[in-house]
Amino acid sequence: MSAEIIDGRAFSEDVKKRVASQVASLKEHHGLQPGLAVVLVGEDPASQVYVRNKNRSTVEAGMRSEEIRLSENTSEEEVLSVVERLNNDPGIHGILVQLPLPPQVNEMAVLDAIDPAKDVDGFHVINTGRQAVGLPAMVPCTPLGCIMMLKDRLGDLSGLNAVVIGRSNIVGKPMASLLLAESCTVTIAHSRTKDLPAVCRNADILVAAVGRPQMVKGDWVKPGAAIIDVGINRVPKEDGKTRLVGDVDFDEAKEIAGYITPVPGGVGPMTIACLLANTITAACRSNGIDEASLPDVG
Ligand code: NDP
Repeated sequence: MSAEIIDGRAFSEDVKKRVASQVASLKEHHGLQPGLAVVLVGEDPASQVYVRNKNRSTVEAGMRSEEIRLSENTSEEEVLSVVERLNNDPGIHGILVQLPLPPQVNEMAVLDAIDPAKDVDGFHVINTGRQAVGLPAMVPCTPLGCIMMLKDRLGDLSGLNAVVIGRSNIVGKPMASLLLAESCTVTIAHSRTKDLPAVCRNADILVAAVGRPQMVKGDWVKPGAAIIDVGINRVPKEDGKTRLVGDVDFDEAKEIAGYITPVPGGVGPMTIACLLANTITAACRSNGIDEASLPDVG
């Protein structure tokens, strides 16, 4: 048996088309153009690529895009004052501060300063707490993209055994919380977990968010399971160049699983699409517009 590949690129294009038609509808019926601001501090090459892609996607969707680039030695105070200005800008509905930040800037202090209503990354403790107790919240983009793909393929997730490997605040924990909200039976595994292969073999849904290339082997996978590979790892090739691989040994796992996301082309593209979707949500909530009244196809 060979697993069905979940094409995150195609899925994300559908989400982006839906977002673009929602932006058009907001402009036409409410005179509202959703705005997203991205703050980048420093020269981290991977962050520069992400920010460029985010900016392009925002503009393509018809939103206002503001990109604020600050130098590597910017002080925490300066970053906080930029966040404050964006909090008070009525034309900006979503604020994203690209991580990691340089060492002189306290990440938690900056994330905490973002108005929770504009926190389209969903990292503010208010949003974390609201999500945990089942209140409307901004949900972190990567786990949101994962859950959208799972529901699209599996439908009702209720009662399924879900194993999430990784317990970071940006992926593992919110992912587990979203799966619990879908009534899965959730196990969170991490570096101290005993007999991880046996834990994984019990998973109807296996989410790997570790950062270790091809760690999850084929014989860790329950036949027919849905595998979501969040990992992005750059590994050397024989010709001296590099390539991207996930946390799952794709070639082995695809022979056993029912569904699997590839790397690249799986979870990654969905993250930006969900950022745009979250900006729509934030713009609607702050203007008292029922998001359900917007078009739900592109
Ligand atoms: P973190 O480094 O913050 O967390 C990694 C987690 O993996 C930790 O909880 C750690 O456990 C656990 N872990 C490490 N080694 C093992 C092991 N041998 N066995 C079991 N668990 C282990 O990473 P992130 O959550 O930020 O990211 C995870 C991966 O996802 C990375 O490859 C990252 O690049 C990728 N990513 C992809 C995104 C996308 O858009 N596709 C977005 C965000 C991240 P412990 O807590 O015990 O240390």
